[in-house]
Amino acid sequence: MYGDIVILSGAGISAESGIPTFRDSDGLWNNHRIEDVATIEAYERHPEQVHDFYNGLKIDLQKALPNPAHLAITELQNGYRNGTVSVVTQNVDLLHEKAGNRNIYHIHGQIDQAVCMNCGRITDARGEVTTETLCAGCGMAATLKPNIVFFGENLLRMIEVDALLDKCRLLIAVGTSGAVYPANTFARIARYHGADTIEFNLHATVNSYDFDRHVIGRAGETFPRFVKELSAEK
Ligand code: NAD
Repeated sequence: MYGDIVILSGAGISAESGIPTFRDSDGLWNNHRIEDVATIEAYERHPEQVHDFYNGLKIDLQKALPNPAHLAITELQNGYRNGTVSVVTQNVDLLHEKAGNRNIYHIHGQIDQAVCMNCGRITDARGEVTTETLCAGCGMAATLKPNIVFFGENLLRMIEVDALLDKCRLLIAVGTSGAVYPANTFARIARYHGADTIEFNLHATVNSYDFDRHVIGRAGETFPRFVKELSAEK
């Protein structure tokens, strides 16, 4: 029986909710090139364009509903008695929250927030944000950036995540390609500290060798089945 569990989720867990992954859209995100909308240079050069993209993406992501894989995490969290179940997600959507998951760590940021590049304050940004929106902290205009980690920026909440990886006894990766650093090292780190590791994906990934077990198939089908098996083991 396991102790603490960390679930590492990637874009694949949200695919069955109708949100495309990078790989499924030829490395494009909602038909945009990553360099145009997810780098700090793009934000500095064309902040209006970057805001437009995230304002649009926000509308799409807010409409999406959690699928059985997200809901199974809540079921696991409600029933598991041998430790905590944490969710470390690379996703900027809010489907873990919508599914009622707890202990969620958004390491790549989240679509419903903005961060001020002047004072660092993180604010609720469920509506449209433009270069004219004033920061609620310092009152400046043109300083808000979507609270999404762009290429070249540090990940969020990593001190807490490092501690979770050290302590967990089971790491479960769901729908992540293993191509994005440093999340693609988490299974190896957890394993080094003694955790078992399991991967749920449509196929083997580039770092499949970091996993003890592979479950191939759609996460909305395979992951709820796994949660039932784990609950039956108790
Ligand atoms: P990715 O796009 O690189 O890879 C997604 C992985 O999910 C692939 O390995 C694919 O085989 C797998 N997959 C697809 N459908 C699946 C399904 N139904 N069941 C199981 N697995 C499935 O995604 P990534 O590794 O998360 O990294 C890309 C980055 O893109 C992330 O950092 C994230 O910030 C961002 N992103 C986020 C969202 C979102 O918030 N939903 C969507 C697209 C991209």
